[in-house]
Amino acid sequence: MKIALITIICLVLLLNIFPSFFARLAAPGYSWCGRCKFPWKFVKSHRTDYSPSRGVFPLCEKCWEELATPEARLPYYKELYDSWEKDPNCWDEIKNAVMNDR
Ligand SMILES: [Zn+2]
Repeated sequence: MKIALITIICLVLLLNIFPSFFARLAAPGYSWCGRCKFPWKFVKSHRTDYSPSRGVFPLCEKCWEELATPEARLPYYKELYDSWEKDPNCWDEIKNAVMNDR
């Protein structure tokens, strides 16, 4: 009985400390926001178009707005770009789109 109570308390604490971790467990197969780490199943992505037919979304709408400036947002775009296995050679286009507040 005591162990069950301790287990429940620990789970509640972990849920409060690492909510995005549990959200990712509940959304297998989804990628997530680079800042808050919540999967796209639970937060809306902010799409940044860097060409007429191509867009990228490293941040959710809430994080994109909270970061407020292109300079604060840019590292999340770079981190996503650097994670791509193939280099699509479009960093300049992405950077221009971010700096133009898109
Ligand atoms: Zn976010």
